[in-house]
Amino acid sequence: MSRPETGANASSWVVASRRGAALPRAPERSPEQEPSQGGRGGQKTGGGGGWRGHSGVQQPVGAGFQEPPLSFSLKNDWVGAVIGRGGSKIKEIQSSTYTKIQIIKGYPEAEVRIFGTKAMQSKAKTAIDNLVQKQEDYKTEPKVDVAVVQPSDGKDARKDVSGNQKLVDWDKCRENILKWSKKKWAVFVPGLPPIKKNFYVESETTSSMSQDQADNWRRENYNIMCDDLKGGEKRPLPNPIGNFEDAFHCYPEVMRNLQKAGFQRPTPIQSQAWPIILQGVDLIGVAQTGTGKTLTYLMPGFIHIDSQPLARNGPGMLILTPTRELALQVEAECRKYSYKGLKSVCIYGGGDRDGQIKDLAKGVDIIIATPGRLHDLQMNNFVHLKSITYLVLDEADKMLDMGFEPQIMKILLDVRPDRQTVMTSATWPCAVRRLAQSYLKEPMIVYVGTLDLVAVSTVKQNIIVTTEDEKQSHIQTFIESLSPKDKVIIFVSRKAVADHLASDLSIRHISVESLHGNREQSDRETALKNFRTGGPGYLLPLSLEMIGRLPVN
Ligand code: AMP
Repeated sequence: MSRPETGANASSWVVASRRGAALPRAPERSPEQEPSQGGRGGQKTGGGGGWRGHSGVQQPVGAGFQEPPLSFSLKNDWVGAVIGRGGSKIKEIQSSTYTKIQIIKGYPEAEVRIFGTKAMQSKAKTAIDNLVQKQEDYKTEPKVDVAVVQPSDGKDARKDVSGNQKLVDWDKCRENILKWSKKKWAVFVPGLPPIKKNFYVESETTSSMSQDQADNWRRENYNIMCDDLKGGEKRPLPNPIGNFEDAFHCYPEVMRNLQKAGFQRPTPIQSQAWPIILQGVDLIGVAQTGTGKTLTYLMPGFIHIDSQPLARNGPGMLILTPTRELALQVEAECRKYSYKGLKSVCIYGGGDRDGQIKDLAKGVDIIIATPGRLHDLQMNNFVHLKSITYLVLDEADKMLDMGFEPQIMKILLDVRPDRQTVMTSATWPCAVRRLAQSYLKEPMIVYVGTLDLVAVSTVKQNIIVTTEDEKQSHIQTFIESLSPKDKVIIFVSRKAVADHLASDLSIRHISVESLHGNREQSDRETALKNFRTGGPGYLLPLSLEMIGRLPVN
């Protein structure tokens, strides 16, 4: 478990309080830590480097340090930028200018003192001024998306005739890309194998359901709503199925898998969505994680790719997910319900790229991927997507939130447009509707429950209003109140806090793992695995940036 940087303790720069409070420390420096100043500007290293107390503020001792310090004030806003992460910037300035720098906190401004030769003091000040200037420039930059499409004539497309910044017209880009894709596929599709899409044989029980019975069932099952988004005359909405046989009585291997998993009955989204997907209709499932949405698209997908009339020359199913964790989770589900030996591969950023390329080269039926890495492999011709006939956009809202739309657009340029597409999303905002409009054809939509975000009614929520100082003791009391089988996830605001808390707890012999974006992918996977399989008393401090990236089931 990595420990957070200890900032001032790790470096020889000092942040002090102007009120004469003791400095964080006076670094004890060994001779080999002293920067060699010989040969620089004719300076000789003065022996006995170190720090000496002087009028309440310690000062360095060494060559050129007999000079009075160059002192100037610095806005408190810029102190962090000058110090840098873990002192990285200020250390860099010190080592490149052979100076020692003190930043003394004060109000309204901090004071900077640079020790060293006159020439080096001035060099260090210039470096600090440059850092500050950068921050000021950044602060005054317009905070709008100034990305532009560069015109081929080489003129600066960022400015219009009056010199104002121009924005990218994303709607135009989308429109152009769809037009171009239509044109391209109009040539290719006639030469491709035909796609069989309808595999549904409605059971007698399902077909005998009256409209009222179907409506009642929907109301009683989380108020499922179902609609046909096709323009013009609407198609009849299929009745929901009551049990697994109703959907899969013609597919004994699927039945065996579901029996093996020990599931009693379909979840509401499965009951309503399976008859739609199995008929070959594109589907939008608005449902949260935990509703059984993965199996909703996986089972019909298995049947779809296995039952095509002509052999494929490449993967048949592509599942795009926003995060590596979700991709891995979907892959685990895929392997669990293995169907007719279909092979799957998980392609995600942070994973072993060469290994993924090798797996692809061996031949796969199903690709589960995050858009960034898949796009990379696609651009480099390691994967061909022409044979995909069943596409899933899983957690589409999250993919858009994470800025994956450009990669999705480029990936889908290579996927034949007459495929079947299933899209899932936990929410249904405009951006997701627009994506659905672009990439699904005459879809039906199934909403599970309300679209308003509400707290789960089955979970008791305790809200404790507390102070920063009392948080630790609340955690302590809470941990002591746990029963031996309890596992806990603690959400914290920052990555460093997750590490810090994890270290604290592990010192107290509590099984604990921290999880945040700065940890290596393999460490994150191990942390999740340990949490899932680990013994009782497991705690997982999780930084907020990981929320939504995790399928913690
Ligand atoms: P998902 O919403 O896909 O993340 O699924 C959540 C969990 O529900 C997974 O562990 C699935 O294996 C499980 N699951 C899926 N379908 C069913 C079902 N019909 N009955 C019980 N559990 C299910």
